[in-house]
Amino acid sequence: MVIGEESFVFTEEQIYIRDLIRRVAKEKVALRADQIDSSAEYPQDMFDLLQELGLFTLPFPERYGGTNSMVSACLAIEELGRVCYNTAYLLLLQWVPFGAILAGGSDEQKERFLPDLAAGRIRGAISTTEPQSGSDVAGIRTKATRVAGGYRISGSKAWCTNSHIADFILVAAKTESKGNENSIDLFIVERRSEGLTIGRAEKKMGARGVPTCPLFLDDVFVQDSNVLGQAGTGFKLVMETFNKSRPLIGARGIGLAQGAIDHASEYIKSRVAFGRNVADFQGVRWMVADMAMQTEAARNLVYRAAAMTDAGESGTEFASIASMAKCFATDTAMKVATDAVQLFGASGISDEYPINRYFRDAKVLQIIEGTNQIQRNIIANQILGRVSR
Ligand SMILES: Cc1cc2nc3c(=O)[nH]c(=O)nc-3n(C[C@H](O)[C@H](O)[C@H](O)COP(=O)(O)OP(=O)(O)OC[C@H]3O[C@@H](n4cnc5c(N)ncnc54)[C@H](O)[C@@H]3O)c2cc1C
Repeated sequence: MVIGEESFVFTEEQIYIRDLIRRVAKEKVALRADQIDSSAEYPQDMFDLLQELGLFTLPFPERYGGTNSMVSACLAIEELGRVCYNTAYLLLLQWVPFGAILAGGSDEQKERFLPDLAAGRIRGAISTTEPQSGSDVAGIRTKATRVAGGYRISGSKAWCTNSHIADFILVAAKTESKGNENSIDLFIVERRSEGLTIGRAEKKMGARGVPTCPLFLDDVFVQDSNVLGQAGTGFKLVMETFNKSRPLIGARGIGLAQGAIDHASEYIKSRVAFGRNVADFQGVRWMVADMAMQTEAARNLVYRAAAMTDAGESGTEFASIASMAKCFATDTAMKVATDAVQLFGASGISDEYPINRYFRDAKVLQIIEGTNQIQRNIIANQILGRVSR
């Protein structure tokens, strides 16, 4: 297949999923969004709702009860993210460990973890970031030392979302394998492992509904059967997991941008200045037109990347498009949310209105799952290669 041939036309099933989730988001999720943000408490009721809707395997093959479609997954995330960043995040947090185990796990690991993740009986988290290295995954210092029957892991991790409630955490650590010193592997560290401490949750300005904590691993024993994939393949697995989830982060961006447009449009239609509705001023109308135009452009890029995933694309050219989708959609989310706050005037700064929540959450999207500078590096490397002498 030639890169760039895929396009996306939503199927009837995808439209059904979008409309169903749009309705549930409006009727059940939107009402909780502000409260989740202000209390910064994990929204178990939203997790239960997603479980009830049977969404935990949506992007995955039919044999797990899914649709095998990244496009469907993006539609679900977009609709939830339009009203509540945190609820959309809960869904993604269930999908990422599922996707990593599905892609790299042994048959035994798949059997042990996937049915329970699918049913929402267990939860996972993923931890690559450390206090001294986030973007530079290869710079991690957490070490896994070979011992009889498995590994002993020691090190400090930072910014691990969902770790406070996860039953297991996929921890990236450096191993010393023959001929490949310092290769990185992913270990399934069970929550109750001796030597694992989950630290105090970060006080965050955005993404406040799902706690993010540091981890401390002190000689934690992980048996061989909990090494994900084959020894020495962990780094590749992490990168592939991130590549696959990039359209989904893009979908959170367009959902957030659309939600900001929804709120701003409603506000300016009722706000009056100089004897006219604010929505009547041409300067304001053009701002809204730009916000809608940028969001629609991002939407097209995100669904194109999702359609490429569904068509089985991989490799550097796909990685570049996936990075464009993540970067452009989340930069758009930041730009649109900033303009939306502007359209609210002083009310945009007040917590009486939801729009500042969109602004704070948009900033997080530009940083997580590879910052937008790192996405630009991936895109530029694909075009230019490395040209230094
Ligand atoms: C809310 C939230 C949740 C998170 N959840 C998780 C999680 O569940 N698991 C997990 O492992 N991590 C998680 N993270 C961490 C996140 O992945 C990292 O913050 C991110 O990868 C950036 O790393 P850093 O913060 O160490 O920034 P650094 O890598 O220190 O970067 C600092 C700045 O320098 C820029 N920069 C760095 N290198 C380059 C370069 N080569 N070229 C150009 N610019 C560069 C960066 O883009 C950034 O602007 C989370 C972060 C947040 C905010």
